[in-house]
Amino acid sequence: MKRINWITAIFLIATPIGALLWGALHVRSEGLDPRALAFFAVYFVATSMSITAGYHRLFAHRAYEARPLVRAVYLLLGAATFQHSALSWSSDHRLHHRNIDRDGDPYNVRKGFWWAHMGWLLFTDHKKSRFENVPDLQSDWMVVAQDRFYLPIAIAMGFGLPLAIGAALGNPWGFLLWGGLIRVVLGHHTTFLVNSLAHTLGRRPYEPAFSARDSFVTAVLTFGEGYHNFHHRFASDYRNGVRRFHWDPTKWLIRGLEGIGLASNLRRVPRERIMAARLRSDRARVLARVQESSHDAVAAVQRQAAEVSAMVERAVARLGELERELLRLRSLRGTTEHRRAVRVDLKVARREFRDAWRRWKEELARFVEARDGAGTATA
Ligand SMILES: [Zn+2]
Ligand SMILES: [Zn+2]
Repeated sequence: MKRINWITAIFLIATPIGALLWGALHVRSEGLDPRALAFFAVYFVATSMSITAGYHRLFAHRAYEARPLVRAVYLLLGAATFQHSALSWSSDHRLHHRNIDRDGDPYNVRKGFWWAHMGWLLFTDHKKSRFENVPDLQSDWMVVAQDRFYLPIAIAMGFGLPLAIGAALGNPWGFLLWGGLIRVVLGHHTTFLVNSLAHTLGRRPYEPAFSARDSFVTAVLTFGEGYHNFHHRFASDYRNGVRRFHWDPTKWLIRGLEGIGLASNLRRVPRERIMAARLRSDRARVLARVQESSHDAVAAVQRQAAEVSAMVERAVARLGELERELLRLRSLRGTTEHRRAVRVDLKVARREFRDAWRRWKEELARFVEARDGAGTATA
């Protein structure tokens, strides 16, 4: 029988109730102070993204490197969300990735939506974690110091700062309510959605075996963490929304930090590997759908799928080759002529890749249609 972690349990249950009751009473008696609301909005974004860009993609996954100033800000503002220290958070999160959907995954969604959302927190004793899977973080003195002084930092940054700013502006309780309590509750549940909703809602384009799913809705609610199937398949990539148009403010923040010299070595999985995973997953899905058809029909689909997906793979490999060549030429001098030629080839390669991809999509739709057609005919 698991023991309840009473401190966490009371905190997680009392804060939303407190936020609702106090919020309702405060708004009734004092109304809404636009300055408190503005502070809430800014502080909510800053602290939440210290979790997504800091705790998650930097500390837990080492998807990029950041200057000490950035790391310090992540650790201070991350603590303000009351989600434990970066060390503890990262240790749990690495276990989640290593043991996804199995025992050993602290927020295993197979135990239910609510378990993954917050139930697991009520039963986890963070003091007993030994942090064996975070040796790299244990040699980072800032991370260790944040873990050691976690509670005073969390209280000071989570409640003390909003209260102090509010006091300076003549509305300490309004700022504490909005920038402290309501922000903490909202921050908790948006983060928790990554463990519950991102493992329940959406598609699985990269790894059908994982419960993790890609969903624009979850991405909007979680600062870009909703492309969770991609993330579980390629956890070292600094992006979760890998396509340019994917809603992933965390990836934009990291790229912005790189632009001003505060982040470096952003890790990107090569497009060839991403596409290979995508094709494999598509193929597995189609084969699963046609498996009741005749042996000859399945063999025909397999043959056709292998042919078209090989075409996509060739096109994406050529594209990668040319992109790398262009990058190499950019660092050299006096190669303008060659560079121009590579650019022209690149344009052609892009078009060929797009065509091959479209052909693959059409082929997939055709397989499914043919199978559904056959199903109707025999029904
Ligand atoms: Zn996950
Ligand atoms: Zn992760």
